[in-house]
Amino acid sequence: MKDMYDVIIIGGGPAGLSAAIYAGRAERKTLVIEKGSYGGRVKDTLEIRNYPGTVTDSGAGLMEKFKEHASSFPTNSFKRTTVTSITKEDDGTFTVHTKRRGDFGCECVILDVGTKPRVLGIPGEEEFVGHGVAYCATCDAEFFKGKEIFVLGAGDQAIEESCYLTEFANKVTVIVLHEEGHLDCNEIAANEAFKNPKIDFVWNSTLQEIKGNEHVESVVIKNVVTRETTEFKTDGLFSFVGMVPQTDIIKDIVKLDPKGYIPVNDKKETNVAGIYAVGDCTQTFLRQVVTSAADGAVAATASERYISEKRQLDNILTDKSGDIAFVFYNPYETSQIDEVTKLEEELKNTYKVYRQDVTRQSLLFKLLGMEKTVSSAFFKDGKLVKKNN
Ligand SMILES: Cc1cc2nc3c(=O)[nH]c(=O)nc-3n(C[C@H](O)[C@H](O)[C@H](O)COP(=O)(O)OP(=O)(O)OC[C@H]3O[C@@H](n4cnc5c(N)ncnc54)[C@H](O)[C@@H]3O)c2cc1C
Repeated sequence: MKDMYDVIIIGGGPAGLSAAIYAGRAERKTLVIEKGSYGGRVKDTLEIRNYPGTVTDSGAGLMEKFKEHASSFPTNSFKRTTVTSITKEDDGTFTVHTKRRGDFGCECVILDVGTKPRVLGIPGEEEFVGHGVAYCATCDAEFFKGKEIFVLGAGDQAIEESCYLTEFANKVTVIVLHEEGHLDCNEIAANEAFKNPKIDFVWNSTLQEIKGNEHVESVVIKNVVTRETTEFKTDGLFSFVGMVPQTDIIKDIVKLDPKGYIPVNDKKETNVAGIYAVGDCTQTFLRQVVTSAADGAVAATASERYISEKRQLDNILTDKSGDIAFVFYNPYETSQIDEVTKLEEELKNTYKVYRQDVTRQSLLFKLLGMEKTVSSAFFKDGKLVKKNN
């Protein structure tokens, strides 16, 4: 027998913890499953200065507050394990499968699986991870005290982290794909990097290979204009070439875009009713703590409505419920109010009629694939008989 929850939140980053706060306030039995440490990726930053109400804090400090807040609701529980997949059951519930803690059941899933650093897959990269190849300056900078290192990438993260790395390393050389003077980061970071005497750049270049024995000893860099390759001695390489969503575990159940991000609507609904997605793993314009936290609030509130509506429908549509008609309408179209009233009148002698305002109760409308209002659907003992669409 698996434990059943109202909501299971996969991932305890800012979006997942925020969703847990809203689900907790609504007294929904909620489980947060996190494979690493609570707080997600923002824990990698030493300073956060753009979360409203917090002039400055470390990423870890801010996330401790999120976790403490989410833990303050007695209906919330937390488990540390990796989710490996999700199955949709015939009764409309979901089973969440984990690596070490077994299976858990729920009515709704909120996906907060976030992103991870993009791995280029160049020779030597995988071999030397943890032996000179790194993706997080906050986590690994101190291992490079007094050393000479290379950084791959020219975006905000690459350039800001390069500046931070000079507090430890003697020299940081940034490998940039573009022509001299052109970085992809914001102007403030670029100016700071250009002024920093410990930072050097190799322009028009890309990383071709990482070499060494036990540890990184050199990098082979290719000039993309001249096509020449040059080998440089180095103690390490930090790679900041973007992020990829960690959506592999749900690719068989939820629709993804070609880059693996999850398309969602304004309620953070995925293409599967009852599965929501929030934060960095979704198709979105801005990936920050404030937007992730807002997503969590929206998804938890929408999931709350979904559960109420689903339970109402489950109570109405039983195997002994007889002849039932649902009539769907949009009350903001004034003419539909008269139209639906007339339809109700016509049906009420044969059916028990339920009126559904689709601006508030859209679950059945969507599940049935209804396309317009006013429309109707007919059930006998809980089974769909006919749709007038
Ligand atoms: C170095 C750095 C500095 C940053 N600085 C700032 C800043 O100053 N301000 C700002 O607003 N944002 C900043 N960001 C961005 C911010 O970290 C993200 O936007 C935010 O963390 C996204 O939150 P999230 O909850 O969507 O995802 P994440 O933080 O990625 O959390 C997702 C969580 O899901 C867990 N997870 C994934 N898959 C599974 C699974 N299968 N099973 C169980 N758990 C799983 C992960 O372990 C992770 O904890 C920074 C990011 C980095 C890397």
